Amino acid sequence: MKELVRSSVLNIKPYVAGKPIEETKRQLGLKEVIKLASNENPFGPSPKAISAIKKCLLRVNRYPDAQGFYLKKRLAKYFSLEPENFVLGNGSDELIDVVIKTFVEPDENIVTSETTFLEYEIIAQVNDRKIKKAPLRYFKYDLDAMLKLVDKKTKLIFIANPNNPTGTYVTKYEIADFLNALPESIVVVFDEAYDNFVDVDDYPDSISYLRRKKKVIILKTFSKSFGLAGLRLGYAIADSELISYMERVRQPFNVNNLAQEGGLAALDDKEFLKKTRRMVLEGKDFIYKELSKLGLGFLSSVSNFILIDTGRDGLEVFKAMLKFGVIVRDMKQYGLKDFIRVTIGTQKENERFIRVLRKVLKEKP
Ligand SMILES: *Cc1c(COP(=O)(O)O)cnc(C)c1O
Repeated sequence: MKELVRSSVLNIKPYVAGKPIEETKRQLGLKEVIKLASNENPFGPSPKAISAIKKCLLRVNRYPDAQGFYLKKRLAKYFSLEPENFVLGNGSDELIDVVIKTFVEPDENIVTSETTFLEYEIIAQVNDRKIKKAPLRYFKYDLDAMLKLVDKKTKLIFIANPNNPTGTYVTKYEIADFLNALPESIVVVFDEAYDNFVDVDDYPDSISYLRRKKKVIILKTFSKSFGLAGLRLGYAIADSELISYMERVRQPFNVNNLAQEGGLAALDDKEFLKKTRRMVLEGKDFIYKELSKLGLGFLSSVSNFILIDTGRDGLEVFKAMLKFGVIVRDMKQYGLKDFIRVTIGTQKENERFIRVLRKVLKEKP
């Protein structure tokens, strides 16, 4: 059947998602399984979002509001912008696709980094667009190296900030220099899926670039800090004219009613977000300390996950931990053979993660 398929599709390495809890229980006959593999919020959806979604259930016979009127209005207030500065997406994943389809001509290219969110490359390939990747430098995006990859045909740049899977970030100073050096004809996308976990002073205020009319697009999501990964809701923030073109490209009913209502309520639940941030910071400190006791190398993260050098084959560590009902992420897809990535969980989950990791590392490599 291969001959039926576009060659660019044949070349795609499929995205491998974090292993689901139910599947793990079924396959290994386990009762208690915890998932620390997809950077989700371990504290559940916000209670406010749950009750808003429940109320909305009786309306799922109707199509959702194709304009997302109330959610955009609420987002505009949240960021002190206009509703016209927002386009909603079925997760920010969909908006990566929308951005590429909206801006990149067939003979143009995209620049990003190696060892970053894999969807940039996969979606570029699906759309038959060329993507060029600069290596990381000390596990960080190397903006100078990316600048060197820019040519006359470059239209789009993806910067995951903080980066997944490293948990590192580029500073506002680095971004300022980068934007100044870049030709006006290029659109820069900041993927800020983890912005709410960042607790450093030199993290860029990307909205301020927008106000200065820079050609930037900011992607945000309800999947991580807001705890709504299963609903699929993300959004892009940009100049209203750029947004209007993206609106032409997205599917008309890409964001369902439950997601719109849930997102609206989650934005209002400041307590939940505050608790999430505090618990993630505490959990991260706990795991750092325990990893140090185990003598393992790891990267300091501004996000809700940690990249860990296990000193042996990371895929084997992943498999061994799975048998004890702890799902982490091996980093083979990212070319980091010895590493695993773990999402900060509840304190109980973090303790179990450390217990099982210690046990697994004691076994023969
Ligand atoms: C999780 C993640 C996303 C996307 O999530 P959606 O669930 O599609 O909104 C986007 N970018 C990065 C870097 C991520 O890690």
